[in-house]
Amino acid sequence: MPKRVLSLRLLARRWVAARATAATRLIGNYPFFAGLSGTLIATVMAILTYAALYEGRAEELRHAEENSRNLVQLISNDIARNVEIYDLSLQAVVMAAQQPQTWDLPEALRQRVLFDRATTASRLGGAYVIDATGHVKAARSNALTAAEASVSLADRDYFIAQQRDPQAGLIFSKPYHSRLRGGVLAIGLSRRINAPDGTFAGVALLGVRLDYFQHLVERIDLGKGSHLFILMRDGTLLASQPPTLRGITANYADLPNFAIFSRRAAGSYTLRSSLDGVERIYTFAHVDNSPFIVVVAPAMDDVLAGWRRRSYIALVVTTVFGGAWVAVSWMLAFALRDKVVAEGELLRLAVTDPLTGLANRRALDSRLAAEWHHAVREGTPLSVLFFDIDHFKLFNDTYGHAAGDEVLAFVAARIASGTRRATDLAARFGGEEFAVVLPDTPLDAATRVAEKIRKRIESANLTLSGTHHGCVTVSAGCASCNPPQGGSGVKLLAAADRLLYEAKEAGRNQVRSQPWTGEGAQPLVDSEAGTRGRDAPATRG
Ligand code: GH3
Ligand code: MG
Ligand code: MG
Repeated sequence: MPKRVLSLRLLARRWVAARATAATRLIGNYPFFAGLSGTLIATVMAILTYAALYEGRAEELRHAEENSRNLVQLISNDIARNVEIYDLSLQAVVMAAQQPQTWDLPEALRQRVLFDRATTASRLGGAYVIDATGHVKAARSNALTAAEASVSLADRDYFIAQQRDPQAGLIFSKPYHSRLRGGVLAIGLSRRINAPDGTFAGVALLGVRLDYFQHLVERIDLGKGSHLFILMRDGTLLASQPPTLRGITANYADLPNFAIFSRRAAGSYTLRSSLDGVERIYTFAHVDNSPFIVVVAPAMDDVLAGWRRRSYIALVVTTVFGGAWVAVSWMLAFALRDKVVAEGELLRLAVTDPLTGLANRRALDSRLAAEWHHAVREGTPLSVLFFDIDHFKLFNDTYGHAAGDEVLAFVAARIASGTRRATDLAARFGGEEFAVVLPDTPLDAATRVAEKIRKRIESANLTLSGTHHGCVTVSAGCASCNPPQGGSGVKLLAAADRLLYEAKEAGRNQVRSQPWTGEGAQPLVDSEAGTRGRDAPATRG
């Protein structure tokens, strides 16, 4: 593989790793924010899913309504077409019956002249010419029997209506049990026959069996809670699927539904049935040129069954996955927080001296280098202090190492609390030696800090018999300079170490300070440059 591709890959991998680390740290630092973000995302997804489901429900209802409208249209068209055929047949019967010659024809021919057109109409109960007295004068089916001839239809509603009103036109009767066809249920379509002088000469009648309507509703397959029925405008039920309590030919004008059907020519609405408590989507239409109303009413449960099944699955999946997503977000956020905290702790331990809690040698070195560069860049002074506990070997030998450790921790705490700025660094250099880095601090201020620390340790008066002072004391070297380009903080620290040696030589428990001029460092002349602690510089020796 070419070297260039390899290095590009390496770069890309490093870039990804760096982003991943940054993301991990971000999440670890703000676990609540990360957890809440995860929860928010899951909530938004859930809301979108629920909204889509709700929209799906509306769509399902729209679809059902459209289906119902088509169904109503289909049945209405069938009825309207048949009514038209029936009426044309009736008109043909009327026309033939009004011709006096018709009645002079031989019977077979007369039958054909009168009823030929009527034979094409489907589900016809019978076609008749009734005379002015209400007796059958001619029937389509066959020659009249004596019994048929004796039947009177003068009391039928259509007969009376046609008799009364010469302009009645096509009249639909209420359902009746046919007297001529063994009581079969039918409705009659009738037209008036006039005598040549315009007086009432009888009625042409087509009986339509109610099973025609029942057949129309039964051939359609609906859900088990759904209804399909055909009514007359006065509320009389002609056909229904499934069968209703009151039955065919009963009147339903008292139902709330009927009020709606009779008010408008067509429409759709949702209503909970007062009879069986089932909610249905009713779609209805009045059939043109006839007194019939077709109603299709699928049950809401049937319409939404498929949608409910799908929604249930979607809801379970969304809830389970959304919940899992939320749980994982929070767990991940807190796991990453723990990781970041643990990493931070590791990092802290790596730069901390375990006995004293001060920065360790490694932290001191890197900080000294950093502050040196900073001081070079900014042109600010840099000071370091070097402390050493006096006669510490003697202390250990006299009081034991454990007590020695306690003194080390005590001295460390006094040194740490003797520095005030956040940028100051107190570190354990090794053994009973400590260093302090004081950025942006000139010699006199640094000396005051060292002196203050020395005094605070001495004033604690920790007994150390066998020495000149009789208590635990420290000696310190303080070196300071305006760091030159090039040089290093390590040399400044070495200078402080040398001054510490001088302090030891001069009798211990004292601070030796001096500007450092080695390696081209500028001596510090402006003693007012810094304003540290108020303690006066009190060097000894
Ligand atoms: P001087 O005043 O010249 O500094 O004398 P000193 O005895 O302090 O110096 P020396 O270098 O002879 O002894 C340093 C002692 O510090 C040796 C060792 O016993 C002690 N020491 C170093 N590290 C530790 C530590 O971690 N714990 C304890 N208890 N003592 C330590
Ligand atoms: Mg020492
Ligand atoms: Mg010592």
